[in-house]
Amino acid sequence: MTLVWLGWKLLDQDRALAAQRASERRQVSAEAVVASLDRSLAEAEHWLSGDEPPEGSLRATASATGLRVEPANRALWVPVPPAALEAADAPFAEAELLEFRGPADHALPIYEKMAHSGEPALRAGALLRLARTYRRTAHTGEALAAYRALANVRGIAINGMPADLLARRAVCDLLESAGRKQELGREAASLAVDFANGRWVLDRPNWTLAEGDLARWTGAPLPIPADRKALSAAADRVWSEFRDRANSLPASGRRVIDVEQIPVTLLWRRDGQTLGAAAILPSLLNGWIQAAAKRNAGPAYRVALTTESGRLIAGREPASGAGVLKLPTADTRLPWTVAVASDGGAADTRDLAVRERLLSLGLAAIVLLLAGGSWWLWRVMRRELAVARLQADFVSAVSHEFRTPLTSLQHVTELLDEDDDLPPERRKSFYSSLGRNTERLRRLVESLLDFGRMESGRKPYDLRPEDAGGIAAQAVAEFQKDAGPRGFTVDLDPDGAREFQVRADRLALTHALWNLLDNAVKYSAESHSIWVSVRRQADGIAIAVRDAGLGVPSRERKEIFRKFVRGEKAKQLGIKGTGLGLALVSHIVEAHGGRIELESEEGGGSTFKLVLPILG
Ligand code: ADP
Repeated sequence: MTLVWLGWKLLDQDRALAAQRASERRQVSAEAVVASLDRSLAEAEHWLSGDEPPEGSLRATASATGLRVEPANRALWVPVPPAALEAADAPFAEAELLEFRGPADHALPIYEKMAHSGEPALRAGALLRLARTYRRTAHTGEALAAYRALANVRGIAINGMPADLLARRAVCDLLESAGRKQELGREAASLAVDFANGRWVLDRPNWTLAEGDLARWTGAPLPIPADRKALSAAADRVWSEFRDRANSLPASGRRVIDVEQIPVTLLWRRDGQTLGAAAILPSLLNGWIQAAAKRNAGPAYRVALTTESGRLIAGREPASGAGVLKLPTADTRLPWTVAVASDGGAADTRDLAVRERLLSLGLAAIVLLLAGGSWWLWRVMRRELAVARLQADFVSAVSHEFRTPLTSLQHVTELLDEDDDLPPERRKSFYSSLGRNTERLRRLVESLLDFGRMESGRKPYDLRPEDAGGIAAQAVAEFQKDAGPRGFTVDLDPDGAREFQVRADRLALTHALWNLLDNAVKYSAESHSIWVSVRRQADGIAIAVRDAGLGVPSRERKEIFRKFVRGEKAKQLGIKGTGLGLALVSHIVEAHGGRIELESEEGGGSTFKLVLPILG
């Protein structure tokens, strides 16, 4: 128990230590990451003036004169497009009266004339009206030609929209309403290329208008990267901040804004009436995180930059849980929450798991060993105790066995000694009692000696061809002499008279049979009949001794063949015995290459069968 407890304590400590190591590692990594990101941000602050912002970022400088975006081609639109000369309006007032009040075609020559003017603003105004009039009067071809001419006029705006862009959109529009699909496709495709290449610097409404038209005409949304949209929208935001609350803005700052569903990091500095801002995309931040990893040669870790609410801005999705260190903006002065998870964590957990498994296995082995050892000890002790008890029983049983005939001998001898005038019959009966008891003692001693020899493997067996039937018949006849006077009959099966050749030690086999017969008598209870048979069976010659006595309970059927073991009933009923008989019989029959079998029914008698190999 103590061992197991100690083991668990050790494991617990190991776990705590590993967790502490991991947390320290995270702390070190986090500090390094924060320092590196701070450096990158400091470098980025140079982009507010001077250095050109790299890919993934944009500079927007707002001042009283408007907003400048650099590099210009990185934005899709600008909040304040450069001012352009508007197409002329006033010179057409009279002609427009004709155009709208009719007859419209009377306005045409006036427009035509001005369309050849050397002044672009005038030319643009005239071409626009010319095209419009042709269109209204269903002269599509002429209208197209006028718009195409207008498309060649540069640097002039019509209601803020570059005249050439307006003209090319009008061409597409015309072709669309005329159902001239192929021409429309060509026209729209070339317009889309120029549009995407940033030929026109537009504000967001005009850009969105043109983008929507083009998507419709080309039949697919324009391949505009979301990043560029986000940068342009960020520039819009800088402009509106500048316009709406330039004076309340802190002199400098760092913040994450959400534009076009992309979290853009914004750095700014106010310098008098100028606001310089840099918009930084997540892609660039990813580069910074990688740079931080390169600068820091320490243990592997995973970094995520998130908003305060936990939305990922850059890096790898932060794992939640105990293995992550989160540094909020307040601690780092960075515009993001930095989450650091040590990558070595997995290896650590693996190591820990291995150590845990080894320790558990070790503990289990020790516990098993202890349990096994105790069990073995308990068994040995139990067996030793049982043997000791058996031996004690044996000694007392042997003493008893000796005492009975000895007492008898002593008694009869005294009688003979005391009385010289005994009638001859009495004297004879005394002598025969002396003889029987002496024989009993002899057999007892013989048995003990035999057993001693057998135990030490010194008992010689003189095996020679013998007739098992004959041996059985002789043993029965002799036994009858002993048991007959006590009222027992031993019935030999007539078949037993036949000859059954076996290899046997006559004396030993007789001894074995005698033991079985003796037991049959001892454990016969009320019954006084014993049956002996000699039969040939498939695997040998079987000599069976059957009684109708106490029987052997099934739990004892194996045990009783071991030395010193006596049946419960035998002991209870005080039937004399040493527990050696059956052990001796087993030994003898095994020395003959045979075996002993027992069939019994508790209370219904037993049959002990010696099975000997057939000779030849
Ligand atoms: P012992 O007879 O001296 O006790 P054995 O080795 O001859 O020793 O027999 C062992 C035990 O087997 C006996 O104590 C008895 O319980 C049981 N036993 C032997 N023969 C018989 C039998 N014929 N009927 C019933 N029980 C028997």
